[in-house]
Amino acid sequence: MLPLTPETIKTSFVNASRKVVADITLPPRFAEVDWTELDYFGWIDPKMKRRSYAVVPLDGEPVGIVLRQADASPHKRAQCSWCRDVRLPNEVVLYSAQRAGAAGRNGNTVATWVCDEFQCSLIVRKLASLAYIGFDVASARTERIEMLRLRSAGFIAEVVNAG
Ligand SMILES: [Zn+2]
Repeated sequence: MLPLTPETIKTSFVNASRKVVADITLPPRFAEVDWTELDYFGWIDPKMKRRSYAVVPLDGEPVGIVLRQADASPHKRAQCSWCRDVRLPNEVVLYSAQRAGAAGRNGNTVATWVCDEFQCSLIVRKLASLAYIGFDVASARTERIEMLRLRSAGFIAEVVNAG
């Protein structure tokens, strides 16, 4: 994805009040992020462990959402809705996002399972080790990256379109 600046990030949020956005803390290693290896930018707020954020390109524009951890602890048996990694144990977290606009202010939320610590981009880039002869690992990886982009953007679209 294209590199994001702290300013771009703060203006990208669609489902949070100005006060909530003002309280967002970026991850400590923000300056070291390798944007070329990411399909979306997700992180856990260093000061509020149950609050996370994801900034996802939607039609080329970064769109940020605030996510709240819905469950106390990560699960080992559920599947990430964004990268659909099938290897277990893979810890995933159930998040809920307030919808944008009036629907959200009325308490309307959408839920999703996402990899713990937002590892999806890392996971989809790993080449399959158990490949049969003739299996095109590189194109399989490209396809996984594409699907991750589609699914994460699809979730953002759900948050934005109050429905
Ligand atoms: Zn994932």
